[in-house]
Amino acid sequence: MRRKIVAGNWKMNMDLSQTESLIDDLMKTLPESDAEVMIAPTFVNLYRAFELLKNNKIEVIAQNMHFEESGAFTGEISAAMLKSVGVKTVILGHSERRAYFGETDGILAKKVDTALKHGMEIVFCFGEELEDRKSDNHFNVVGSQLKNALFHLPADAWKNIILAYEPVWAIGTGETASPEQAQEMHEFIRKTIAEAYDEALANEVSILYGGSVKPANAEEIFGKPDVDGGLIGGAALAAADFGAIVKAI
Ligand code: PEP
Repeated sequence: MRRKIVAGNWKMNMDLSQTESLIDDLMKTLPESDAEVMIAPTFVNLYRAFELLKNNKIEVIAQNMHFEESGAFTGEISAAMLKSVGVKTVILGHSERRAYFGETDGILAKKVDTALKHGMEIVFCFGEELEDRKSDNHFNVVGSQLKNALFHLPADAWKNIILAYEPVWAIGTGETASPEQAQEMHEFIRKTIAEAYDEALANEVSILYGGSVKPANAEEIFGKPDVDGGLIGGAALAAADFGAIVKAI
């Protein structure tokens, strides 16, 4: 089912006491909304976040996981570990994971398979770099990222996939895709999924936009017909900004 979602990716920010205080602020100030609200604190604070948000609608999700089940993978976190503290949804394929930690489409396909095997939901991130857009190659890049990491999945698996289109040139740069650029790409993504599967499935997938979404631009971006919400980085670290973005949806 197509859903409205605002998800905050906290990245490598917020120690334990900062996590507690941001969650406290969010619980006190987040506006009522029909949209689903998710936050992704760092691994070490997931357990505490679940404790604090026990009776709250805000969903706690993870930023990453490894594709192996267990074993000699120092520093990594498995799907089973995430599930054991209550995580049901994991972000995979963030451009920072791709750029700084060598995560390829092939690795991501394995992570997707493992997450789905464990019954988890995935917020799958992808998007082109600035050079791709400048050379008018952005549709090709996005199409192949989807194909390589997701199109091996059976149609039934897509009920657990949320997409997050994040043009790399707009992440953490203050530069945002225009609402028209976001809509154009989201429409292309839906068309690409419809060609690989069918139109009904493509219309059911929630596609979030990510890349310098702020209170000032959220409403216009979320107003586009193929944009179902946002993945928010910097602005998710201040309750007032995140609340304003939730309100905008
Ligand atoms: C992100 O990290 O997914 C993101 C969109 O970051 P920012 O909002 O800071 O651009």
